[in-house]
Amino acid sequence: MKPEEVWDTRGLRLRQVLDRLHESRLDALLVSHLPNVRWLTGFTGSSAFLLVEPGSATLITDFRYRTQASEEVGDEISVSITDSDLFAEVARCLEEGDSGPRVGFEDHSLAVRDRRALGESCGAVMWEPAGPLVGELRSTKDSGEIESISSAVRVAESALGDLLGTVREGVSERDLAVELEYRLRLAGSESMPFDPIVASGPRSALPHAHPGERTLHEGDLLLIDFGARVEGYCSDMTRTFVLGAPAAWQVEIHGVVSRAVEKAIAATEAGVPARNVDRAARDVIAEAGFGDRFGHGTGHGVGLEVHEQPSVNARSRDTLESGNVVTIEPAVYLPGRGGVRLEEVVVAGEGGRRVLTGFPLDLGEL
Ligand code: ZN
Ligand code: ZN
Repeated sequence: MKPEEVWDTRGLRLRQVLDRLHESRLDALLVSHLPNVRWLTGFTGSSAFLLVEPGSATLITDFRYRTQASEEVGDEISVSITDSDLFAEVARCLEEGDSGPRVGFEDHSLAVRDRRALGESCGAVMWEPAGPLVGELRSTKDSGEIESISSAVRVAESALGDLLGTVREGVSERDLAVELEYRLRLAGSESMPFDPIVASGPRSALPHAHPGERTLHEGDLLLIDFGARVEGYCSDMTRTFVLGAPAAWQVEIHGVVSRAVEKAIAATEAGVPARNVDRAARDVIAEAGFGDRFGHGTGHGVGLEVHEQPSVNARSRDTLESGNVVTIEPAVYLPGRGGVRLEEVVVAGEGGRRVLTGFPLDLGEL
């Protein structure tokens, strides 16, 4: 994107926030969740507040980011650098501004200690919990964001392809995880969105296994769940392989999970309640007799964070919107034996969807 397009995008996002503030009868919003700060300003530092008021937006950060902040945020957002405490600077900016006293804060992310500090620094302000206001806006991705997520998917798939050449009997889960991280970095991942999960044999039945010392044996399932990050945006995908020829039970549960993925993807489109997508996957698994072997939700939004809105589970109240990017990751876990999980990344659209992941889903005998 050209700089002016970037600024247009940020201006549009700030206007969306102001519309939401108006609907919520708030006079201003203090954004503290750093992915939200980044989405609205482009600032990538690790300490900042963004104060959004009807006539202005001010990024408040400390002296370490003096140069970086002015380079990243462009002219449409003021930058306020402080050598002391950010809370006192928030109070100063609010006093200087002319917005009313009702200021929203991000109650899902602000620490209790920080909320108290704000109360002490800004005596005249009526702080109101704003809920996940910016998170809701962020859940609908524009074409540039979808392109970044798509790049992160391609980086991950290229690293996975490289990794598979190194899988052999006797290698440990931990060595494979280290190798995967190395290859992800080589392929262009800026950082790890989360520690990769590499789980083999019976450990593949543990949904969030940490790679350990266990070594691979003939006939083991090998579950790999990992992602890459490009331009701040994450990918998140899972594949399950088998070392050597698969056993009948492995083929069976892999077939069930593949059908669940297919049905859930077919149900993903704008206007559909997210819980229906979960239901589509869950019904396939339940009908095959494994209903009690799939204990987590079917998916989640992915973007600047690896887990964000909307939720795709049985309790979700979200309705999919065009531009939502979600994972579809049903599984069957058989304790003591092994598990299969497959995870795809899908963009919901009007009357359809686009699957960003392309790595084959088959059991992939290694
Ligand atoms: Zn994952
Ligand atoms: Zn996931």
